[in-house]
Amino acid sequence: MTDYIDLFARELNSGFPGTGIFFGEPMRRHTTFRIGGTVSLFAEPKSLEAFVWAVRELRRRGIPYMVLGNGSNVLFSDRPHDLVVLSTARLDTVRVSVDSIISGAGVLLSRLGNAALEAGLTGLEFAHGIPGSLGGGIYMNAGAYGGELKDVVESVTFLDCYGTLRTVANRDCRFGYRTSRFEGSEEVILSAALRLRPGDPRAIKEKMEDLAARRREKQPLNLPSAGSTFKRPENGFASKLIDEAGLKGASIGGARVSEKHAGFIVNAGGASFEDVDALMELVCDTVRKRTGITLEPEIRVIR
Ligand SMILES: Cc1cc2nc3c(=O)[nH]c(=O)nc-3n(C[C@H](O)[C@H](O)[C@H](O)COP(=O)(O)OP(=O)(O)OC[C@H]3O[C@@H](n4cnc5c(N)ncnc54)[C@H](O)[C@@H]3O)c2cc1C
Repeated sequence: MTDYIDLFARELNSGFPGTGIFFGEPMRRHTTFRIGGTVSLFAEPKSLEAFVWAVRELRRRGIPYMVLGNGSNVLFSDRPHDLVVLSTARLDTVRVSVDSIISGAGVLLSRLGNAALEAGLTGLEFAHGIPGSLGGGIYMNAGAYGGELKDVVESVTFLDCYGTLRTVANRDCRFGYRTSRFEGSEEVILSAALRLRPGDPRAIKEKMEDLAARRREKQPLNLPSAGSTFKRPENGFASKLIDEAGLKGASIGGARVSEKHAGFIVNAGGASFEDVDALMELVCDTVRKRTGITLEPEIRVIR
């Protein structure tokens, strides 16, 4: 596989000079958990054209790959991964109009929030503090404080499983709670159009600042994590169940259930994948025994 990946990397680089190519790149450098072993190749295609070429070629050559946004919802194991990771970081164009934003998948939600504020557009305030990219956010219909991406997405342009570029409207994205049609599919999100409304810039700014303050107060933002570890179960909150099970502060190795927010497992210093994995299992088992509820991970675990 290494030879095939080397050849792919050389062709990507010669076809699209300026593409970021990193062999044996540790994923702890690219994930907010700061955990993860090396991948054979980490590539940052420098344009939409380069990105599309890369996905089509990886598929054609049967090389295992994965698309990564900002790495804020993933946990890689510490072993070496025979895998190409394609970063969307340079799918980074943003076009703002009177009531919409068209954006590349790699653009951070924080940047989009600021762009909306500058243009006096309301509707995206909820997303400003979510540390992911637009593509990663659409993939799992990220949301916070009563808003979800499904409320603002008008259409999504993606590469389908046959390598064809397609655009679908919101209703065809099959958005649900922390899920969409893209989850677990082969479809790769390239860009999206967001429908917003003209609003009062002062009110937009106030709302963004208020939500940021609530995050700082409630969430352990000073320590690496991937946000909420588990999805919200029906009729409840994972953090409440974990707290009531007496697990706040529980730790294994460098992984700890945050004392500030029991829904977060944090890397309190040098946590390994095994530490986090074992702690997730402990939390799941304890909550299940106590309440009969099985918590489902929200983060994507790459073993
Ligand atoms: C401190 C903190 C706070 C958080 N708060 C929230 C919150 O309030 N609400 C919330 O919903 N989430 C929250 N999260 C989780 C995370 O930020 C979101 O899930 C975010 O949407 C993930 O985006 P990403 O770009 O980082 O995705 P990544 O972690 O890079 O990827 C996640 C998944 O999406 C896939 N993916 C990424 N981009 C694409 C693409 N272009 N096409 C196809 N698949 C793609 C990846 O393959 C992977 O399976 C938080 C995380 C942290 C660390």
